[in-house]
Amino acid sequence: MPSYDPDNIFAKILRGEIPSTRVYEDEDTLAFMDIMPRSDGHLLVIPKSPCRNMLDATPEQLSAVMATVQKLSHAVKHAFEADGVTIQQFNEAAGGQEVFHLHFHVLPRHEGISMRPPGNMGDFDLIAEHAEKIRKALN
Ligand code: 5GP
Repeated sequence: MPSYDPDNIFAKILRGEIPSTRVYEDEDTLAFMDIMPRSDGHLLVIPKSPCRNMLDATPEQLSAVMATVQKLSHAVKHAFEADGVTIQQFNEAAGGQEVFHLHFHVLPRHEGISMRPPGNMGDFDLIAEHAEKIRKALN
């Protein structure tokens, strides 16, 4: 497996070198909005320390990230009055991974409504509105 690339886009987000819409952070993890949301409220949770994916993550990194995934799952369910929440996570290119810093997708879901297709840039004002709803639900 290739080694961790410190110039991947999420490492740049962590260092504040490129902008992101952050909704939550603690000592070990960060949650921010996906720029190509496949459902309203689609966000990503990452560890602050480097690892490519599940295959090189430590149990401590996984445990911290999963605690934040659960916290944000409750928040999006509440914020969007969702019927359910989909969690997605991909490992290496063959597994569907495009950004090589461990991340979990958190997608609020509504009965009978499919996820939108991947690869479509979201509306930034709408994403900011959704982020604010999630922040409020966390309080
Ligand atoms: P994956 O590696 O899980 O297949 O996909 C990476 C995810 O990161 C995609 O859902 C994509 O929309 C999202 N993404 C890619 N580049 C950026 C970015 O610069 N900022 C944010 N917030 N999300 C991104």
